[in-house]
Amino acid sequence: MMPEKSAIASAVRTAHADHAGDTGGANASYIPYLASVDPSLFGVCVATADGDVFEAGDAGFEFALESISKVCSMALAMEHTGLPEFHDKVGADPTGEPFNSVIALALHGGKPLSPLVNAGAMSTVSLIPAASADERWQKILAMQSAFAGRDIRLSDAVNDSEQSTNFHNRAIAWLLYSSGSMYSDPMEACEVYTRQCSTLVTTRDLAVMGATVAARGRNPVTGKQVFDPSLVPPILAEMTMEGLYTSSGDWAYRVGLPGKSGVGGGVLAIMPGTLAIAAFSPPLDPAGNSVRAQKAVASVAAALKLNIYNATDFAQ
Ligand code: GLN
Repeated sequence: MMPEKSAIASAVRTAHADHAGDTGGANASYIPYLASVDPSLFGVCVATADGDVFEAGDAGFEFALESISKVCSMALAMEHTGLPEFHDKVGADPTGEPFNSVIALALHGGKPLSPLVNAGAMSTVSLIPAASADERWQKILAMQSAFAGRDIRLSDAVNDSEQSTNFHNRAIAWLLYSSGSMYSDPMEACEVYTRQCSTLVTTRDLAVMGATVAARGRNPVTGKQVFDPSLVPPILAEMTMEGLYTSSGDWAYRVGLPGKSGVGGGVLAIMPGTLAIAAFSPPLDPAGNSVRAQKAVASVAAALKLNIYNATDFAQ
């Protein structure tokens, strides 16, 4: 059941007001561009499966999508391979290690385990059928745009900053190739993966992207069916298991909504069938999740009594 509009508007306002003064965490520093973003920026937004949008703070500021891009590419690859093959090749388990872990690969015979860590995300990109890097990239960009309901664009500044420093991801791509978990040229997959992380979105875009998942693959603002509804449960399962990396279990315990974060400072959570909650603020915790965005999303979820493990709670 959809919460009242006035309740959503008030939950968004309160989440922003209650956390506007929080200062914990630090911007990602391993990507030079991200270190330079104003750490005081803070936006909160809810988009519903009916297409209503409620926002507060800097919800119109454009920031780097980063790992949240992994959700769009996962949908694209799943549509192509079908669910059993995607599950078999990429996996659906938490790694228990940081998002760029090499140890996690070594421990599991070079299999990435999840499309939401860097290794699995590069495998995922390599599964998208394409004859060239540009074709692969255009498909991903079109998918991000369909999720958001507007033309999403690459930031050259973010992309240059990432491409010139992503030696670690290139090493992971070669390890995947050597273990048979890379399905295109590994450097092409790494390069396109890095581009997909370097697009710009607003907190509002992020909420609409999440609402597209909440609305069974149909963007509730544009009305366009973006991906097949059968992909929603596996996408949400992947998000539950690894969406906030090593904090995914804590997040499920405390908040109870499938989520996804990015080192640009975005956090997204989805109540299937109902709405998505997005927040953005650059300073991160040690796991790579925005401190303030996590708090804001948790605050909105609690205020609206949204928790997939207690789905009857809000339907009183
Ligand atoms: N582009 C970043 C990387 O590959 C994305 C990581 C993230 O957002 N967790 O390291």
